[in-house]
Amino acid sequence: MQTAYHPVLFLFVDGVGLAPASSDNPFSTVPTPAIEALLGGPLILETIQQRGDRLLLGLDATLGLPGLPQSASGQASLFTGRNGAELMGRHQTGFPGPRLRALVEEHGLLGRAGEIGREVTFANPYTRRYLEDLEAGKRRASVTTCAVLAAGLELRFLEDLEQGRAVSWDFCRDRFPAGTGEKLEPITASRAGRDLATIAADYDLTLHETFLTDLAGHLKRGIAPEETVRRLDDVIGGLEAARPANLTWILSSDHGNLEDISTGSHTLNPVPLLAVGPGTAALGGLRSILDVTPAVLGLLERPK
Ligand SMILES: [Zn+2]
Repeated sequence: MQTAYHPVLFLFVDGVGLAPASSDNPFSTVPTPAIEALLGGPLILETIQQRGDRLLLGLDATLGLPGLPQSASGQASLFTGRNGAELMGRHQTGFPGPRLRALVEEHGLLGRAGEIGREVTFANPYTRRYLEDLEAGKRRASVTTCAVLAAGLELRFLEDLEQGRAVSWDFCRDRFPAGTGEKLEPITASRAGRDLATIAADYDLTLHETFLTDLAGHLKRGIAPEETVRRLDDVIGGLEAARPANLTWILSSDHGNLEDISTGSHTLNPVPLLAVGPGTAALGGLRSILDVTPAVLGLLERPK
């Protein structure tokens, strides 16, 4: 059966797992009114459901390998549907090396959506300085940046951000862009969510990435887990208030971290697949982060 076409906004939140309610799980200790309005409960294991145009599932992020799942192999797997940890023989931290980069460049979601004729965008802004540093080999590209560059997408910059045509990884512009001397007027997380809805309205597939969640889960100084959960909830509230009726947004992650602040390391917990909008019915059977890219490509298929 051919499913109907659905435009998609993919919110990639680094380091967010799905765990039971506990005093160590900020998703259960902090009020999250926007998430609770959607699901009738917080972003925890007990809230798993599929109801009308809302869905919350737990996806396996261990990729069948021992040890804690990590960002480079997890993101490569999430954004290709191919097992990056198996390819490397282990979970790979941080930034992808040549083999994972090649996997992402060949099989990445953004590039494949472009190949089937879809309009694709990355909502995060870049600084020109960052791109120069990449070019010069002073910095290494993340999985998403590899995917964005390989897909040949038009990039967004600070001027787009200032005009609401981009959303930074921290959502509120109080941390982005670090180390450039640029200082931007902060915005509310709710406004960032509305901006994401506005950007997504013009594309078939929009990707946004935040790693604020992973930094908070690593218990980095100055990034409170509770405040990060509140911020994410406000983004979702703003997004829902402005979501075009035909848009399906999905939120998922590469591995657990923030949902267990008893430890500053990654976890073995499943990661959420939170989806809202008319395309959610097709997402009910997903089991692993490897299932996300094929499912998103399925939503983008147009009937023959
Ligand atoms: Zn990660």
